[in-house]
Amino acid sequence: MNKYILVTGGAGYIGSHTVVELLANGYKVVIVDNLVNSSYDAVARIEYICQQKVPFFNVDIMDYEALSQVFREYDIGGVIHFAALKAVGESTKIPLEYYTNNITGTINLVRVMKEHDVKTIVFSSSATVYGDATRFENMIPIPEECPTGPTNPYGRTKLMIEQILCDVQKADRSWRAAILRYFNPMGAHPSGLLGEDPLGIPNNLLPYLAQVAVGRREKLNVFGNDYDSHDGTPIRDYVHVVDLAKGHIAALAYLSKLESGNGLYREWNLGTGMGSTVFDVYNAFCKSIGRELPFEVVGRRDGDVLNLTARPTRANSELEWSAKLSVEQACTDLWNWTTLNPFGFQLKNYGWKIFEENGKSSYASRLHTVSFPESEFLVSVANYGATIQDISMKGKSMVLGFDSLEEYQQSSNPFFGATIGRFANRIGSSRFSLDGSEYKLSVNENNRTCLHGGINGFDKQMFLGPVVTFSEADKEFLLEFILMDQDGNNGFPSDLVCKVKYKISAGKVKIEYSAEIPSSSKSDSTIVNLTNHTYFLLGDAEISKVHVQTETNEILSVDGELLPTGLTEKVSDLLLEGVILADQAYDNCFVVEKNGCQLDTRKQPLMKHLEALSSTKDVKLEVASTEPCFQFYTGDGVNTEAFGPRSGFCVEPGRFIDAINSEKWKSQVILRKGEVYGSIIEYSFT
Ligand code: NAD
Repeated sequence: MNKYILVTGGAGYIGSHTVVELLANGYKVVIVDNLVNSSYDAVARIEYICQQKVPFFNVDIMDYEALSQVFREYDIGGVIHFAALKAVGESTKIPLEYYTNNITGTINLVRVMKEHDVKTIVFSSSATVYGDATRFENMIPIPEECPTGPTNPYGRTKLMIEQILCDVQKADRSWRAAILRYFNPMGAHPSGLLGEDPLGIPNNLLPYLAQVAVGRREKLNVFGNDYDSHDGTPIRDYVHVVDLAKGHIAALAYLSKLESGNGLYREWNLGTGMGSTVFDVYNAFCKSIGRELPFEVVGRRDGDVLNLTARPTRANSELEWSAKLSVEQACTDLWNWTTLNPFGFQLKNYGWKIFEENGKSSYASRLHTVSFPESEFLVSVANYGATIQDISMKGKSMVLGFDSLEEYQQSSNPFFGATIGRFANRIGSSRFSLDGSEYKLSVNENNRTCLHGGINGFDKQMFLGPVVTFSEADKEFLLEFILMDQDGNNGFPSDLVCKVKYKISAGKVKIEYSAEIPSSSKSDSTIVNLTNHTYFLLGDAEISKVHVQTETNEILSVDGELLPTGLTEKVSDLLLEGVILADQAYDNCFVVEKNGCQLDTRKQPLMKHLEALSSTKDVKLEVASTEPCFQFYTGDGVNTEAFGPRSGFCVEPGRFIDAINSEKWKSQVILRKGEVYGSIIEYSFT
C-alpha cells in the first residue's frame, strides 16, 4: 500500500490502537485530531511503540480548508473515521454540539474526500444504533439486519452518518464504505502505553472499576441485580480494543479486494458474540488485580436492558475477523495501563510546549518540563537531540541552554545539553574498520576528525516520544526518548535504535542509554559511544570561581589532534584536593577504569567522577557514571551569541577516545546484532 490511510480521531482510544495495528501491517498513516478528547502524548507513544514518525495534524474535521490541506499534502488512499463526540449522557444535554460535530464534521470530511477522489471510508459506528434490540423477538444476539432505533442523540448521529454514507454510495457506486458497529470496547494496549484516557467520570464499566481500584472512586454502582441472567446483572458484549483495531485492518483489506471500479456499502458488527454480565467483568477484574473491590447494588438504570450481545458471524465470515482476546486479558491489560498511568496522559508537574523554530511549530519538536515544586527543582528536555535545555534549582539555572530551537540549530552551538552519538568524542582520520570493511565517516573537525558522531549526529536529530510516567514510590519522573538512526548516516554501518531514559527526581537527573541493531537492519555490526554534553554553570555568571575536585587525575595522553597515544599521564595532584577553575583550561579524558569496560555497563556500580561547588558554595554538583572514563572540558571553545568561553564546564562519561581504532579498547564500542550497548550517567545537585 503506497498511499496513506488518513485516520480521523487517531489520538483517541480506539483510533490510537488502530494506528498501531495499521503501522504493524505496513500501512502508512496520517492522523487528524483536534484533541478535544485526547492528548498528543498518545501520538508520541504510538511513535515510540512503532519506532517510526507518524504525521499528525491538529485539525478539526469541521475545518474544510485545513482538512483539504492535509489531502493536498499526503497521497491518501482511504480514511478510517473515528473523530466524534461519544458520550451518550452528554449527548442528551448538548445535542446540537453532537449533531454539529459528528454529522456536519462527517459531511465535511466526505466532501473533502470527494474533491480529492478518495472514495474508501471505514466508519466507526456503534451498537447503539440498534437501540433496545430486546424489543424484537429473536434479535439477541443482534444481527446486522436488526432494525435500528437509537434512543439518544449520540446514537442518532451514528445512524444518520450511516445513512449519509449509504446515500453517497448509492449516488456514486464506486464509493466503498465499511460501517463497523462496535459493541463494548475495553482493555488497553499490552505495552501499557496506550489506553482510554480517563478524563472525568467514566461511562464504561471497566474504566470505572479501574478508578475504584486506584482509589479515585469509592465503589462500583451495580445498576440492578434482578435481570434474567445467571447472576441477575445485565449482559453485554465486551470486545478487546486490540481485537477491535484489527477489525479495521480486516475491513480495509476487504474493501481493497473488491474488483476494480466496484463499490460497496455494508455494515458489520464487531463483537465477540459472547455476553458477559456486570459481575462476570467485576470478577475478572478483581482476579487480575488480586483483590476484591467495593460495590453496591442500586436500582436499575433507565434505558438499561437485559442483553445486548452481538451476532458477529458476518464479520467472521466476510472479513475473516473474529475477536481472539478474552475479558480476562482485557482486564489484565487495563490494569497494566492504569497502574502505569493512573491519571492517563495527564501528569501533575509535567507539561510541554512546542519548541518553535523560525515561527514554525511542529509537534515533533517539543520541550518537556518536569518540576518538583517543594524543592524548586525543574528540568526541561527537548525532542531535538533529547537535549537537556534546563536544570534549575531555586530559580537559578544550573546549566547552559538556549531559549529557541533556532539557536540550537546554529553551527556555533557547542552541543549544549545534547545526547551525543552515535559515537561520542573523536574518531581519528574519521575512519575505522570493522569485520573486514573500511568505513569513512563524516568530518566535522579540522577537516580530518569525526567529532561527536559527525555532521548529523544525534544532537541534531529529532528523537521520538517521550513516554512520560511518574513513579509515586520513587517520586521520580521517567522520560523515555527513542531514535532510529539509519544505516549510512554520517557513514556508520547498520541501523541503530537508541533509547535515552531520563529518570528525574528532586535534585537528581539520571540518564540511561541503550542501543541495539534492529533485526531488520541489513548490516549486523556497528560502533557506539553515547554521552550527554551538558555545560554546567551552577547558577554562577561564569565558571572561574567554581571549585572542582576529581576522583582521579590520570588522563589519556593525546597527540596534537587530541587523539590518544595509548599511554596515560597524570595531571596536577591538586585536582584531587580541589581547584578553582580560574586559569587552568581542561579538555582531557580522565581514566576511571584503566581496563576499559564491557559493552553494557548498566549493571556496574555508579562511580563518582567529579564534584563541583559554585562560587557562593550554595550549590554542589556530583557527577557519577558506570563508564570507564570521562571527558572534562572547561568550555574554552564556546563562542555563541549568548555565551562565550568558560561560560560552563562539561563532564562527559563514556568510552575511551577513538576506542575503535585501538586493539586494546575496541571491544568497548563494537555492537553486534543481538547485543545491547548500555550506560548510566547521574548528575546530583544539593
Ligand atoms: P475518543 O474520544 O477517545 O476518540 C475520538 C477522537 O476524535 C478524540 O481523539 C477526539 O479528540 C477526536 N475528535 C472529536 N471530534 C473531532 C473533530 N471535530 N475533529 C477532529 N477530531 C475530533 O473515542 P473512542 O472511544 O476512541 O471512539 C472512537 C469512535 O468510535 C467514535 O466515533 C465513537 O463514537 C465510536 N465508538 C466508540 C465506542 C466506545 O465505547 N468507546 C463504542 C462504539 C463506537
